[in-house]
Amino acid sequence: MKVAIIGAGFTGLSAAYELVKKGNDVTVFEKDQNPGGLAIGYKENNWKWSLEKHYHHWFTNDYSVLNLAKEINYKVIIKGPKTSILVNYKIFQLDSPISVLKFPLLTLISRLRMSIVIAFFKFYPFWKTLEKYKASIVLPKLMGLKAYSLIWKPLFVNKFGKYINDVSLSWFWARIKKRTPSLAYPKGGFLNFANCIVGKIRERGGKVLFETEILELSSENKPQIKFRNIKNSKLEIENFDVVIVTTPSFLFLKIASNLPETYKNTLGKLKGLGATNLILRLREPFFNDGTYWLSVCDKTAPVMAIVEHTNFMDKENYDNERLLYLGNYREHTDEYFSMTKEQMLERFDPFLKKINLNYKDNLIGYELFKAPFAQPIIPTNYSKMIPPFKTPLKHVYLANIEQVYPWDRGTNYAVELGEKVARLISKNA
Ligand SMILES: Cc1cc2nc3c(=O)[nH]c(=O)nc-3n(C[C@H](O)[C@H](O)[C@H](O)COP(=O)(O)OP(=O)(O)OC[C@H]3O[C@@H](n4cnc5c(N)ncnc54)[C@H](O)[C@@H]3O)c2cc1C
Repeated sequence: MKVAIIGAGFTGLSAAYELVKKGNDVTVFEKDQNPGGLAIGYKENNWKWSLEKHYHHWFTNDYSVLNLAKEINYKVIIKGPKTSILVNYKIFQLDSPISVLKFPLLTLISRLRMSIVIAFFKFYPFWKTLEKYKASIVLPKLMGLKAYSLIWKPLFVNKFGKYINDVSLSWFWARIKKRTPSLAYPKGGFLNFANCIVGKIRERGGKVLFETEILELSSENKPQIKFRNIKNSKLEIENFDVVIVTTPSFLFLKIASNLPETYKNTLGKLKGLGATNLILRLREPFFNDGTYWLSVCDKTAPVMAIVEHTNFMDKENYDNERLLYLGNYREHTDEYFSMTKEQMLERFDPFLKKINLNYKDNLIGYELFKAPFAQPIIPTNYSKMIPPFKTPLKHVYLANIEQVYPWDRGTNYAVELGEKVARLISKNA
């Protein structure tokens, strides 16, 4: 079977790997210079390892991606870095039942109540019964207004903005259920891991074409794609037996022709946020307590999360630089998407100085990365909104980030999705 896969993110790569293993003639088309999609990395000349443009790690129960790493003999590092929250410009470790019980800004009753709610979600398996409820309505009732207002509401506001009242309780359940105390990371970085999968696809005869953008996709009896080589602008048209699209749905709508209006409306209802990450390269640590991940519980803060990557992976891999992400989720129309890195640092500077007054004395350099579609919004009853793999276009399949549910999107689920769609195609062949 001659298969085209649009996108060399982890969905596209895992689908391609599954299909070449079964002897299919596979070509992956990727508009970027490198594989990895949202988990793509970049590398400064003096670094040994690449770094993700947007912070990434795995949980130790991310079995699909960990099994893939095992299968291709890729080394994974497991560590237990410190996770904290920022409240009133003070940092509190909050990553274990003990740390919740010790949290000083709530009464003992509030702490116990919050611990019971978290423990309940950790052990409760029936997510389907939760999906009809809104997190913003149910959580204050379960945890009490004080705990919700102090910790969870600011986190929700910072992450979801105007969508805060849309998010389903099943999304919150998934976040609690899935979290593991230890985290995992592919040695060398996600880019290296993605390149290794590309190598395995090519070893088995598959093609992975970079800087090749799909412009049009149609299907009368067989799918046909029109693509452009970004380097030399050369246009080509090619027919395939099957096409798998792994881009977010709005990009699928842009390239596909002759889709029925009802289908377009269904996909059009799916909402998502973009992400921006300003990465600072520092000579000294930003946090003085070794925190890896800091969630900012302050609705007025210009940053949602601060992630000191080198409090997770060894700084030695990055020429002893300390690497700090300043992350936000925003709509792609938000002003953050039109800011330069200089403007963004200027905006964040007063806030950052309240945590580490002298961080700028240690600044080596900084970069800004933007992804216009990064986090689907999961409203109530999302299970009824998920588009199927099969599309109205003959032999064209959609396998993308918006089909990941009830778990929150991640490279693990991208791998699972890629493997699932590949199995479906093999079965239908
Ligand atoms: C800020 C942030 C933090 C995250 N944190 C984590 C984390 O800690 N752990 C984790 O596992 N996951 C995390 N994720 C999520 C994870 O990155 C994604 O779920 C996953 O990478 C999605 O993979 P995908 O292949 O489905 O889609 P994508 O990665 O979006 O891949 C789609 C690919 O299609 C390509 N493409 C688009 N249009 C075209 C076209 N016309 N022609 C050719 N190619 C095209 C794109 O360039 C891209 O490479 C995070 C994401 C973000 C943004």
